[in-house]
Amino acid sequence: MKRLMTCIECPQGCSLEIEADGTRVISVTGQKCKRGDKYARQEVEAPLRTLTTSVLTRGLELRMLPVRTSKPIPKEKLFEAMEGVKRLVVTSPVKAGSVIATDFLGLGVDLVACRALNKI
Ligand code: SF4
Repeated sequence: MKRLMTCIECPQGCSLEIEADGTRVISVTGQKCKRGDKYARQEVEAPLRTLTTSVLTRGLELRMLPVRTSKPIPKEKLFEAMEGVKRLVVTSPVKAGSVIATDFLGLGVDLVACRALNKI
């Protein structure tokens, strides 16, 4: 099976052609550097995404706190992660970069605040 994708590792945006057998990459062409090959293989074999969302707050100046995972997580875990985020409520003031949940859902990443929030 052939797949086409654009490498997003740098502004060049190389058009990649990937020959794959299911989720096993056989060959990658079109990349101008090694990062394109690595990107294509990661995307086909084990795609990762950084989760960006919001967590409910109580007693803080905004009702929702924007958060993100400290590193990308497996794409197939995004829905489970969103369910985990729905169970969280932040009640203490935070700074940008504060850890809201350590080793979030055992995924080996932290959930961190994207901005500061103070008490009302
Ligand atoms: S293959 Fe290399 S040069 Fe092309 S977009 Fe990816 S990182 Fe940039």
